[in-house]
Amino acid sequence: MTVTAPARTIPFFNYKTAFAARENEYVAIFRDVLRRGAFIQQKDLAEFEKHLADYIGVRHAIGVGNATDGLLMAWKAVGLEPGAEVIFPSHTMVASPASVAHAGGVPVPVECGPDHLIDPDAIEAAITDRTRAIMPVQLNGRTADMDRIMDIAKRRDLFLVEDSAQALGSQFGGRFAGTFGRAGVFSFYPAKVLGCFGDGGAVVTNDDTIAERVLLLRDHGRNSQGDVVQWGFNSRLDNLQAAILDLQLRDYADVIRHRRTLAGAYDELLGNVAELALPPGPEADSVHFDIYQNYEIEATDRDGLRTHLSAAGVGTIIQWGGKAVHQFAGLHFRVSLPKTDRMFQRCLMLPMNMTVTLDDVEYIALHIRKFYGA
Ligand SMILES: *Cc1c(COP(=O)(O)O)cnc(C)c1O
Repeated sequence: MTVTAPARTIPFFNYKTAFAARENEYVAIFRDVLRRGAFIQQKDLAEFEKHLADYIGVRHAIGVGNATDGLLMAWKAVGLEPGAEVIFPSHTMVASPASVAHAGGVPVPVECGPDHLIDPDAIEAAITDRTRAIMPVQLNGRTADMDRIMDIAKRRDLFLVEDSAQALGSQFGGRFAGTFGRAGVFSFYPAKVLGCFGDGGAVVTNDDTIAERVLLLRDHGRNSQGDVVQWGFNSRLDNLQAAILDLQLRDYADVIRHRRTLAGAYDELLGNVAELALPPGPEADSVHFDIYQNYEIEATDRDGLRTHLSAAGVGTIIQWGGKAVHQFAGLHFRVSLPKTDRMFQRCLMLPMNMTVTLDDVEYIALHIRKFYGA
C-alpha cells in the first residue's frame, strides 16, 4: 500500500502565522510597551478602548481579562436577580450559560434556527414568569434576527445581554453586534477574528451606570481614587495585549473583507452540492453583514467528509468539541432540543482565516465535491 502525502496542508487555524505575518510591527510594540514598563491599565488600554467604542458606535468599551469574565461582570453589572431565568441558544460555548450560573441566574437553553443562531420562536416558547433576560449569541460572526428578538424583549419585558464574542464588526440592519442589549461582550482569544496573543475581552455598553460597575468589578471594586467600594474581581485586559489589539483594529476592515471573500467563494463552489447546507452568503440579504468568524456548514455523512478532508490535508473542527450545552450530562439540563441535536450530527467548520487563500478554498471545494461524487 502506498500512502501519498496530500497535495497541500491547510490547517484549520495557523497560530504561528498570526504572529509571523506582522512580526516586526509586533516586536516594535513589545519593545515600546515593555521599555515604558506599561503593563497594567496604562494608556495603550485606554486608547484601544476608545478606538473599539468608536468603531462600533457605543459609549463605553471596557477591556477585561476574557469574554467569560466579561459576561459574568455584565450580568452582575445589570443586576440579574438570584434565580432569574436567562434564555440562551444551546449551540454556544459553555462560557455563555456559565456566566449566568455564576451570576446566580438560571440559564435556559433553546433551539437554534437554520442559520445556527438562536431561534426567536424558541425564545418565545421558553418564557416563564421567572424569565428576566435573553442572551443572544452572535455566533460565527453573524448577528441574530434582532428585530424579532428586540420585539419579544419589549413585549415580554425582558432585557438583553449579548454574547457577541464571535461577532466584532458583524451588523444587523446597520447596527453592530454587541450594541443591542444593555451590554455586549467580545472575546479576543487568539482564534477570534480580532485575536490577541493570549486571553482578552471587552464589555461594551451605552449605559453609564453599567460601565461604571464593570470598571469597578474588573479591578477589585476599586474606584479611581483607589478606594474599595464593593467586592470585585481581577479581570483587566493586559496593557500589552491592548496595544497589540489596537494595531490589529486599524486593519480590521481588510480582515473582514478577506473573510467575506472566502465565504463568497465557498458559496459559489459548493452552493449546488445537495448533501450540504451552507451558511448564508455574504450578499444573501441586505439586513445582515456577517464577518465569518467561522464557516460552519452542515453535511450528510459529516464524519466521513471530515476524514476525507483530513486525508487531503484539510483541517476542520466541530464546534465546542461536538456537543451543544444541553448535551453535557454533567450540567444536568433536562430539555429536549431535537433540532440542535440533529444539527450537531451534521455541523462542521471549514478553514476560514487570514492565512486561507482563494486557491485553498478551490482545493477544499474540489475535495468536498469529490467526496460526494458531485
Ligand atoms: C470564545 C467564546 C467565548 C469565550 O471567550 P473567552 O474570551 O475565551 O472567555 C464565549 N462565547 C462564545 C460564543 C465564544 O465563541
